[in-house]
Amino acid sequence: MKRQRSISRRVAQLRPSATVEMTEKVRAARASGRRIFSLASGDPGIPTDPRIIEAAYDAFKAGDTRYAPVLGEPRLRAALAAHEQRRSGVLFKEDDIIVTPGGKFALLTALMGVVETGDEVLVPEPGWVSYGPCVELCGGKPVLLPMLDRLDLAAMEAAVTPATVAMIINSPVNPTGRVISREEIDGLVELADRHNLWIIFDQVYSDLVHGPSFPSPQGTGKGRAFTFVVDSFSKTFGMTGWRLGHLAVPPGLTKPISRFMQHSVYCVPGAVQAAGLKALELYDEVVPGYRAMFRRRQGDAAARLDAVAGIRCTAPDASFYLFPAVDTDDRALAARWLDQLDVATVPGSAFGSAGAGHLRLSVTASDEEIDEALRRIAAAGLA
Ligand code: PMP
Ligand code: GLU
Repeated sequence: MKRQRSISRRVAQLRPSATVEMTEKVRAARASGRRIFSLASGDPGIPTDPRIIEAAYDAFKAGDTRYAPVLGEPRLRAALAAHEQRRSGVLFKEDDIIVTPGGKFALLTALMGVVETGDEVLVPEPGWVSYGPCVELCGGKPVLLPMLDRLDLAAMEAAVTPATVAMIINSPVNPTGRVISREEIDGLVELADRHNLWIIFDQVYSDLVHGPSFPSPQGTGKGRAFTFVVDSFSKTFGMTGWRLGHLAVPPGLTKPISRFMQHSVYCVPGAVQAAGLKALELYDEVVPGYRAMFRRRQGDAAARLDAVAGIRCTAPDASFYLFPAVDTDDRALAARWLDQLDVATVPGSAFGSAGAGHLRLSVTASDEEIDEALRRIAAAGLA
């Protein structure tokens, strides 16, 4: 008997990305003429600064249309190392940086580098929808650990088995916007050290932290030796469509880890990297304004949501998300608001069981659209 053609179980069994699917749903509804007020997007909604676009245009015109170096353009890698060193306070060199097509690919590159078939990776939840599937793509097993408001280090340690190789830690957290505390980070580093685990630290929202401090495992000094840092231009500079991010690796691992790049995407287009270099140059000029805008919107929206019966909402310390608790089934409520109010949100349970009873709302649409969405929510309530 001839074998049937089929797609691989590895891909067929992946759970679809709830955030990407919601974005596609909103796109399709809009294309069909419906006006949707979206509080669902993971895109910051900031137009890329024209000077960044100019830099890419200039690079293309100057002939930067060929393969770029696999690890990234040296000037961009050096600028990213300096940026990370300024933020974390520990030494980063150009050689520690691999430029990737977005943070998602940086995450996959790190996981490809450390996960063997059957290995386990600890993933606290609620957490971003792609962590589990990326671990599965590498043949590993995500160990999902529900812990909503604080990392429960004892529960994490209890979940460690001989097969555990890594943990994925995200701060500020998507979907809650929470910044993980210094105490929790210190505990994680000790735990990883005790059990010889890698830490994959996803800090793609770290430029949108409102407070003065941003604790990170690499910043503890000790954690630097076993932490992979995932970062991106997407959220910071409104550059989601450019597909530009990076992975900062523990010292000495750049070459072996980058083999995955060599055999997959090869490189990030040079002109996109030129844009990234310009973005970093403009950082001090443009980013504080974006951060202040999100903080203002989060504060205003949280107060208006909190005033609705059955909703409890406080503004978090970072990002552009809100994660209000709702006294009803979150999936049914999100579906109802989309169908009846034309307001899009993401149900909290899409981020794991610990997110149930919440919605993820982003304040990335225009002020007018956010205002209208909140007006509709207040008028309809949870009914
Ligand atoms: N990590 C988190 C927590 C995210 O929310 C996103 C958003 N897509 C990413 C990583 C990856 O972003 P990108 O690939 O656009 O850099
Ligand atoms: N990270 C964003 C979100 O959580 C964008 C979509 C995605 O890549 O998941 O909505």
